[in-house]
Amino acid sequence: MNAMPREPLQGELTVKTGTRTELVNVTRKVAEILPAAFSGICHVFVPHTTAAVTINENADPDVGHDILAEIGRLVPDHNPVFRHAEGNSAAHVKAALLGSGVSIPVARGKLMLGTWQGIFFCEFDGPRSRRIVVQLTPAPDS
Ligand code: ZN
Repeated sequence: MNAMPREPLQGELTVKTGTRTELVNVTRKVAEILPAAFSGICHVFVPHTTAAVTINENADPDVGHDILAEIGRLVPDHNPVFRHAEGNSAAHVKAALLGSGVSIPVARGKLMLGTWQGIFFCEFDGPRSRRIVVQLTPAPDS
């Protein structure tokens, strides 16, 4: 039974990225969508093929730098094996590696992230205007 008030259980965020490859901390934007009484799972989904979402350290920005640097080393922009005519295969591969969704437990409107965790939108083919879909699944007893 769902005793929650009938609030919208889906929201959408937009992110404007400013450069080709970038991590954007969207934790606060996601948290603002959550109704105060909500407990359950918050699904964060990126409906794009050259962008991703991941959870990682939000304290030291050098961590984000290092993640992008290492992914860039693993997946170079130009590789003779790439066939995709659009020329952005590296962005597709990076998006595939990090994935298009994360799920975070929520208790009474609060994301149950660890102290050092943040939710990061991962741009791999910017700059662009991007969308993030947030879907809330209530806990069975909430
Ligand atoms: Zn493409």
